[in-house]
Amino acid sequence: MDFEDWRELDGRDELEGGDDEQDWDNFGPMKLTTLTTLTFVGVSSCTPLDDSDTASFLLNGHVLVDCGWAAGITMMRRPEYDATMLTHVLLTHCHQDHYMGLASVLFYRAMQAGRIESDERLVVAGPAKDIERIVDLTMAFIQADRIGNGCPRPEVLPLQPGDGLRASELDIATVATRHAVPSLGYRFLDVETGVSIGITGDTAYVPELARFFSGVDDLVTEGSTGLTEPPPDSPSGHQSIRQAAMLGRDAGAETLIIAHCDMSRVDEFEPVAREICLGVHFPSPGEQHNLEDRSYEY
Ligand SMILES: [Zn+2]
Repeated sequence: MDFEDWRELDGRDELEGGDDEQDWDNFGPMKLTTLTTLTFVGVSSCTPLDDSDTASFLLNGHVLVDCGWAAGITMMRRPEYDATMLTHVLLTHCHQDHYMGLASVLFYRAMQAGRIESDERLVVAGPAKDIERIVDLTMAFIQADRIGNGCPRPEVLPLQPGDGLRASELDIATVATRHAVPSLGYRFLDVETGVSIGITGDTAYVPELARFFSGVDDLVTEGSTGLTEPPPDSPSGHQSIRQAAMLGRDAGAETLIIAHCDMSRVDEFEPVAREICLGVHFPSPGEQHNLEDRSYEY
């Protein structure tokens, strides 16, 4: 059975029922999935300009990175997803435009608790200094104590730079980024497909990050100062479009995705970024990147 045949199969049942069970044993569960998906729940800078949301991203439909202002609602921009499917929420840092949407995620799950199939609690992970407090504040804000069993406290996972975690098929590594509050970048490896995705979150330009994100298929980063170059010691901790492009180029990312900038100026930003990094892309809200199975390259 060759690669193309495997890709046409829907799943394991079909394989086990067939004549070729020996082939399944050879390949193992790696062949269940042929795509890694990266969904752009929101792409905006701090204050959304329209009905978009601040930058937040969904991996394989179950790991949400940052929550924007209202990810519990905006992730339904695509009808195949909603917050009941989440297993993990990872916060890059605890600024309001990245965590406020956690309230909508938790309240949506409480209202739809009967549809949540897994007994596992939702995991909320993020920078160790802030994550417990943010989860506690969010639970208090939605008055989880008045909801009761339908709104269990998530399992909170405080992360230090360098920590790793696993979310089923996603192996996740972390790195410190440079921002006004403790902040993390994440590198994901989908062990079923071999696809890797990096997400910086908010960060100043840190050339060394290129090594952490080296060779990723998609690198998602910010360009929130636009065409203005921030001073090297700027306390706000953001990078320009040019700096985002340099990071993507130096990491050798297959595709550099710049979000969390003034998306109304993409026409101005795109040629500037492309001069530095060829594979640059500015996503639209709700867009999804389907990354092909690369496991045969290993
Ligand atoms: Zn921030």
